Amino acid sequence: MIPFYMLERYEGNEPLFELVTMSMVSTYAGEPLHVHAEGLRGTGKTTIMRSCRDILPNITRIKGCIYNCDPDNPHCPLHRDMSLEEIAALGSEEIPMPFLEISHSAKVGTVAGSIDLARLTDPNNPAAQLLPGLIPQAHRGIIFIDEINRLADTSPEITDILLDVMGNKPGHLQIEEAGLPTVDITVSVSVWAASNPDEDPGPLEEIRRQLSDRFDLVCYMGRPDSVDVLANMLEENSHRQKIRNAMKKSSNVYDYSKNDKYREEIIIWAQKYSQTDMPDFLRNFIARLYIKHNLESIRAIEAMQQGAILHSLIKNRDKVMITDVTRILPLALKHRVDGDTLVKLINDVESRGAREGILSFKNKKNKRDEDDEYFQQNARALKDMSRSELVNTEKDLTPTHG
Ligand SMILES: [Zn+2]
Repeated sequence: MIPFYMLERYEGNEPLFELVTMSMVSTYAGEPLHVHAEGLRGTGKTTIMRSCRDILPNITRIKGCIYNCDPDNPHCPLHRDMSLEEIAALGSEEIPMPFLEISHSAKVGTVAGSIDLARLTDPNNPAAQLLPGLIPQAHRGIIFIDEINRLADTSPEITDILLDVMGNKPGHLQIEEAGLPTVDITVSVSVWAASNPDEDPGPLEEIRRQLSDRFDLVCYMGRPDSVDVLANMLEENSHRQKIRNAMKKSSNVYDYSKNDKYREEIIIWAQKYSQTDMPDFLRNFIARLYIKHNLESIRAIEAMQQGAILHSLIKNRDKVMITDVTRILPLALKHRVDGDTLVKLINDVESRGAREGILSFKNKKNKRDEDDEYFQQNARALKDMSRSELVNTEKDLTPTHG
């Protein structure tokens, strides 16, 4: 596989690079960000997502803990009831942040976990004898699912597990085994998914709307539209080049240290993320969009907030700006509202931004005034409005010039 630093970047895939970077930063900081890349085959979405494994930073866990217990915050059935002294005595170790993949034909036991029947010595405490599945083993890291639409279509049980895991931040996972009490554990994983909405069984939002809504941000991978990019892509996929790449890999031609830059950035941005907040005027702006456009999903506006803050960080800005919100807006809404609403909303944001200068909001001294002013302009009582404002006359619609 081509190292992350060598991946081709062009206008159509830039949003996905941003999205996965934001998710890695957020995950490393301890808050999942679930992302979904949609697009045609051959646009390289899964290549980009899988190569991120190269640049994931290390995490520290209790030595040998398969659940990746944070020594400062142990959560697994074996360690959660231990004292700090007992934990310290176990020691700690550094491992790469997990990146595990669930295939669309995976089984529930592999994904969630099962009771280790061979080791079931104490039936009163089955939790101690769990064999954790892929999701609990990816705690503090990433779970990747290619063809999520097919998984949602053929495996309602695993879809239900994902709904729980992605329901809150951190999420929950129940491991069930017939005849034994259900075991509930906390999991903090970012779920990354890819799908081609134009292939069977169709777009995720039409198969399992609830699961689609669990993804904070969705990006649609555009086709590459430059001859250079396409020609490079063809060359990269040619038989000769594949053999050359394999030889390069085995002969260490790739300079994997060039990935270090990206890994270091993730760590720095994650540290900043814990200290960065969104200014009130932008938070109010997002809240107004929710009300004005009757958005149904609270997750949508939470994703706008989380996404805008992360976007400002990866652009190395010292504060969150309106452009961060407008950049994230379509990614948070594309899968949650119909096309007409999205177009209306984006036009609304763009025209108001240009007309009134949303940026000038933050220069106002008094927050109260901002709100009054907003509601004066946008939510006046009908009785306060003149007829010409309420009814469009033919003259209004066909203004004369000069
Ligand atoms: Zn543990």
